Amino acid sequence: MGINRVQFQKGLSMAQFMERYGTEEKCHAAVVALRWPNGFVCPECKDRRHYTFERKGLRYWQCASCREQTTVMCGTVFESTKLPLTTWFLAMHLLTQAKNNVSALELKRHLGVRYKTAWLLKHKLMQVMSEREADRQLDGRVEIDDAYLGGELPGGKSGRGSENKVSFIAAVQTTETGNPLKVCLKKLEFTKEAITDWAKTALSASVHVVSDGLWCFRAVTAAGATQERIVTGGGPACVKLEQFRAVNTFLGNLKTAYSGTYHAFDFAKYAHRYLAEVQYRFNRRFDLSSILKRLLVAAVATTARPERFLRAAEHCG
Ligand SMILES: [Zn+2]
Repeated sequence: MGINRVQFQKGLSMAQFMERYGTEEKCHAAVVALRWPNGFVCPECKDRRHYTFERKGLRYWQCASCREQTTVMCGTVFESTKLPLTTWFLAMHLLTQAKNNVSALELKRHLGVRYKTAWLLKHKLMQVMSEREADRQLDGRVEIDDAYLGGELPGGKSGRGSENKVSFIAAVQTTETGNPLKVCLKKLEFTKEAITDWAKTALSASVHVVSDGLWCFRAVTAAGATQERIVTGGGPACVKLEQFRAVNTFLGNLKTAYSGTYHAFDFAKYAHRYLAEVQYRFNRRFDLSSILKRLLVAAVATTARPERFLRAAEHCG
C-alpha cells in the first residue's frame, strides 16, 4: 500500500467509535467477550460454574467451586482502575487513530482527568504496545541507522552528552524497491555486544542489512544476516543516499512528531516505551480500522502493570 493510501484510508471515525464503545455497558461487554469468549472460566480453578452479582457498581463473577470473586478487569491491564472503561476506550481510540503522538497532557484535556491519571493511562497502554512488539522480527531488506533524540537545552541547542539524550537503533524493513513495511526501534548504547543481542531477536537469519560504516553494525552478522555497508563519511550528503531513504524518512518524521511533544526527562527515562508506541502504530498503519480492536485484545492479554512497575527502570518486556 502506498503512502497516500495509508493517509487516506478510512480508519475508525469518532461516530463509529461512539456507536461501538460509547457506553460503559458496551465497553464492559467488549472486554467480557475477549476475556471469556466461551463463557466464564475461573482464573483460580478453571471451573465454569459461577454466580454473578454487583457491588459498588461493578459486576463480579463468583466461582461456584472455589468461591473466588473476580471482575472482568482482574488480571488485565485494566486491573484496579478507578476509571470508567469508557475513559480507557477513548484513550485507546485517541492513541491509535492520531497521526501524531498524543501526549499525556493532550490526553488529560481530551479525557477530562488529572494529569497524573492521564500519564498512567498512557504509560499502561504504551506498555501493552511494548510487550506486543517485544518479539518483532524483521526479514528481507532492512535499512539500519543509529539515531539520537532529546537532550535539548533551553534555547534549542542540542545538548551534546546531555544525560537526557537517548540513543537508539532504527531498523526499517522495506520492499526490494525501498518502500517501508515494518519498523523496529530499540534504545541501546552502540556497543558490539548490544547490537549483537539486538540483532539476534530483531533480525531473521535471512535478512539483508543495509547500513552505514558505523563499526558496530558489523555485529548484525551474528544473527546470520548479510550486510551491505555503505560508507557515507557522515554529513548532509549521506541523508540523501537512496539506499537509506526509508530509514531517513522514518527518522525525519519521528523527530518532527517528537519535537515539543514530550518532556525531555520523561522521554529519556521512558524512551523504550515511547519508541514502542511509535513502532506499534507504524507496524499497524495499513489497517487503521482494526487497530483499536487489536490494542484491546492486547490490553486484555497483558497482566496488571501498576504504577511502581511503570516508574521503575527500563523493562525489557
Ligand atoms: Zn474457582
